[in-house]
Amino acid sequence: MTECLFCKIASGATPCERVDETERVLAFRDIDPRAPTHVLLIPKQHVAESAADLGPDHGALLGELFGLAARIAEREGLGRGWRLVTNVGADAGQSVFHLHVHLLGGRPLRWPPG
Ligand code: 5GP
Ligand code: ZN
Repeated sequence: MTECLFCKIASGATPCERVDETERVLAFRDIDPRAPTHVLLIPKQHVAESAADLGPDHGALLGELFGLAARIAEREGLGRGWRLVTNVGADAGQSVFHLHVHLLGGRPLRWPPG
């Protein structure tokens, strides 16, 4: 059995607050939200530990993920601005090593980030 937290969430073994999904992508609320909308988008399969492992073969999956993010942003009323973030490695703050993208919005977002 996998030890990966996001694989467990994708399989339903660990509960989450599900927001939406496509065939290959699951979106759920971050347990420790940093903005009024803070949704995590993950491939349901453990295809990569981070964006560092991605290549041309992942193009369709990433298009599906970004498209879902945009639909959620619209539904959550984030028309004033929203951000997608994917952390790569410990120094960037990555704590779960299953590819995921943070969707953040609902307040003004500082740029550049710290
Ligand atoms: P990272 O720090 O790797 O970029 O992002 C991992 C995110 O997963 C963090 O924002 C953290 O709050 C979130 N997280 C950690 N454990 C859980 C959990 O059990 N459920 C949910 N929904 N989010 C989690
Ligand atoms: Zn995983």
